[in-house]
Amino acid sequence: MSEYDTVSADVQHEEEIPEDHPRYQDLITRHRIENGVEKGITHLQGMHAEGRGSAFDYLLGEETIPSADAAERVAAAHLLLAEQPVLSINGNVAALVPGEMVALADAVDADLEVNLFNRTPERIEAIAEHLREHGAEDVKGLTADARIPNLDHQRAKVDADGIYAADVVVVPLEDGDRAEALQEMEKTEIVIDLNPLSRSPQVAEVPIVDNIIRAVPNMTVHAEELATASEDELRAIIEEFDRERALEAAEERIRNGV
Ligand code: ATP
Repeated sequence: MSEYDTVSADVQHEEEIPEDHPRYQDLITRHRIENGVEKGITHLQGMHAEGRGSAFDYLLGEETIPSADAAERVAAAHLLLAEQPVLSINGNVAALVPGEMVALADAVDADLEVNLFNRTPERIEAIAEHLREHGAEDVKGLTADARIPNLDHQRAKVDADGIYAADVVVVPLEDGDRAEALQEMEKTEIVIDLNPLSRSPQVAEVPIVDNIIRAVPNMTVHAEELATASEDELRAIIEEFDRERALEAAEERIRNGV
């Protein structure tokens, strides 16, 4: 029995998980989602989504593959060029990377908007408060005074001066219907999802096949590096990107390990 078998299944604090544990990132992720459910931030269904993501991440080697890193740089370029960029936050995103989303929003001057599949006023407020605790000053999604066309009532709710008006949206772990509906609104959609075959990355202009825990901080690093780049340089980075190739590279890694 290795020393790691002694990590309790019922971890109370992240610090109890040793950083050199071979499954450290996965254990942290599970712990944050469980915490999110307990705090009323994450819906129970978020645990299933996390389980699916975890399986794909295992097959990807639990690392940011080169095509994902390139997509993260392209995403940063889009966000820096955007007129009105918005980062969409659901229950899993809020539980996993609240401070990291606030840092990305700061780096590219984007708004944060809470947007939930299972929407209740209590969860919206709990998530907004959680983001404020992590440094967010202004959180959108509470007004919900506009609707995404071609979606059922609850899932269509957005802020008129937020996602509805945005030209570039980052939608991590998004459900396929809403990703398709946003695409039909002709927004530049950046999706973070560990499953390259899922509908959301399939419709995204920039599919990022990576764990959100790694993807978001890396997008911020790229945005900081590109902060002084000219518009022409940013456009050149975007034009070079091949979304089909990025999806194929991720699928190849998952299926064949290469
Ligand atoms: P579809 O997009 O076709 O509706 P789905 O029903 O599998 O697919 P959801 O349950 O709506 O998708 O969302 C879960 C998605 O989020 C899965 O594709 C999963 O791989 C992904 N996912 C879960 N955890 C993470 C994570 N930490 N980082 C990135 N992606 C994740």
